[in-house]
Amino acid sequence: DEVIFSGIQPTGVPHLGNYLGALRQWVKLQNESSPDTILLFSIVDLHAITAKQDPKQLAIWRKAMLASLLAVGLDPKRCIIFAQSSVKQHAELMWILSCSASMGYLSRMTQWKARIIDRMMQNWSADILQSKLALPENASPLQHTANKDAVKLGLFSYPVLQAADILLYNTTHVPVGEDQAQHLEFSRDLAIGFNHLYASENSTPLLVVPQTLLSPAKRVMSLSSPTKKMSKSDPSPKSRILITDSNETIHSKLRMAITDSIEGVSYDRGKRPGVSNLVDLIYHFDESAAASPEELAADMKDLSLKALKERAAYKINLGLREIRSQYGELMSGDQKQLIERAEDGAKRAEEIAEATMKRVRNAIGMGL
Ligand code: ATP
Ligand code: MG
Repeated sequence: DEVIFSGIQPTGVPHLGNYLGALRQWVKLQNESSPDTILLFSIVDLHAITAKQDPKQLAIWRKAMLASLLAVGLDPKRCIIFAQSSVKQHAELMWILSCSASMGYLSRMTQWKARIIDRMMQNWSADILQSKLALPENASPLQHTANKDAVKLGLFSYPVLQAADILLYNTTHVPVGEDQAQHLEFSRDLAIGFNHLYASENSTPLLVVPQTLLSPAKRVMSLSSPTKKMSKSDPSPKSRILITDSNETIHSKLRMAITDSIEGVSYDRGKRPGVSNLVDLIYHFDESAAASPEELAADMKDLSLKALKERAAYKINLGLREIRSQYGELMSGDQKQLIERAEDGAKRAEEIAEATMKRVRNAIGMGL
């Protein structure tokens, strides 16, 4: 049977990248999957602390993320929605997997490097940043002693935790944005390697090897630097539109969005990243309007960039209106209900996770 698992970090309110690249896809899978399919969606708070977090803020964001998941349309009766830290088996399996994960493989992953560099931008001093900027393209950030001291072990090894998240639930499919594709490959390799090491003669696989499901909007770009992906952790709030932003905020962030000085609208993600990102956004919020972003851009070719931004803001607001009001209600409504839902999710997740751990503990010689 199919098991769908995915996660999101409580590092802020979800933005359009999270929504189009992940959350909307999760809701679609929920609505279209057969009743036997198990769906799990986790608020991955253990991942969030790989960057410095203010404990009070983190507590707020965990709650905001739960409200966001419900507001976009995930149904806690149909899906298992839970906080990662409330199922201890994640940390346990991570340790076991980390004993067969290769340091070389981990340090070669580019997404990880990009994240380290982002974290540096946020938290670290100017001279550490300098040492990064002096780094050749392909070098590992860990070649610099200053970086080695600043990079924490948890940040280096978080792909192993991500593998544990997925493998605990016998996951067959993981819906994610493109930025996660490399980690998914790592999870697969880790599972295959682990099965190889510990599989017994009997035929049931120890760990299920998961498949990646890329959403159609696999990479939404930042509004302020459109060659980078939109991120919760980008220091600039105007780089992203939150799913809870007001109509006014959506319009003003789009007015400030970086485009280019070419006249009219055309679609070329390489040459016109800002404009193409706006076309993509309109397309993904109104997929009936055209067969592809290219076709949509051709339809809008005579539009001024100002008018393009206006149209994007209009469509995005239409698409988010309902979510925004749901979110408002959940955050101001009965908090006890939110907590009960989270606890119920954790209980259901733990049952599956513990069954996997029994199998794993037995296989490695730690059963009883
Ligand atoms: P952070 O900056 O803290 O890493 P994030 O915005 O990258 O936050 P995550 O919680 O790391 O969000 O990722 C949640 C999901 O959203 C993942 O499936 C990821 O692939 C997807 N996602 C994140 N950013 C984008 C984007 N710009 N376009 C498409 N999908 C995205
Ligand atoms: Mg991320």
